[in-house]
Amino acid sequence: MEESRQAIELAQANEGLFATAGLHPHSARFYCESLERDLRHLLAQPPVKAAGEMGLDFNRDFSPRPDQERAFEAQLAMAAEYNLPVFLHERDAHERFLPILKAHRDAIPGAVVHCFTGSREALFHYLDLDCHIGITGWICDERRGKPLAELVHNIPDTRLLLETDAPYLLPRDLPGAPPKKRRNEPALLPWIGQRVAQLRQQPVATVARLTYTNATTLFS
Ligand SMILES: [Zn+2]
Repeated sequence: MEESRQAIELAQANEGLFATAGLHPHSARFYCESLERDLRHLLAQPPVKAAGEMGLDFNRDFSPRPDQERAFEAQLAMAAEYNLPVFLHERDAHERFLPILKAHRDAIPGAVVHCFTGSREALFHYLDLDCHIGITGWICDERRGKPLAELVHNIPDTRLLLETDAPYLLPRDLPGAPPKKRRNEPALLPWIGQRVAQLRQQPVATVARLTYTNATTLFS
């Protein structure tokens, strides 16, 4: 909640910035009634354009899985109530994640599968649910990003989004010396866009235009 509050304050103080508010699956064990009350208050703030990150992470398992599912479902229901799109985190949890999302999807105005790194099958399941697909600098990693690089051309123009996941996931193929502390930042988004454009065989300017339009439309 404190991090969501800080993001909202930053957005309020800087024109052109917006925020999300939510409980990450890593912290799902802290979900309770008072947290839900606080979260409702944050979701109603004008800079908040989406609910999340929310979802399931069965890779790290920092919270027990039943807690993760409970917090995920509760936040999906809240997003529907506040008519907000959702910012989704799923890692190694596709099988449980899909039916839960599906049950709520029609009630929610939009959904981003953020930092998508899943399989071809998972990608098409999410597209079937009319989700947007967020691509990060993961795709710039020549080894672990390879499966994603081979999939990215399957994302329709209207469902592609670019993200940094800053401060994480500094693109591995940046030219020159890496930034101090290896901190990723939004300024590196064009580098990811360039790689995505190359893989989709589209001009960089086209990818820039369509991902910008997708973001502003999805987040109103
Ligand atoms: Zn995430």
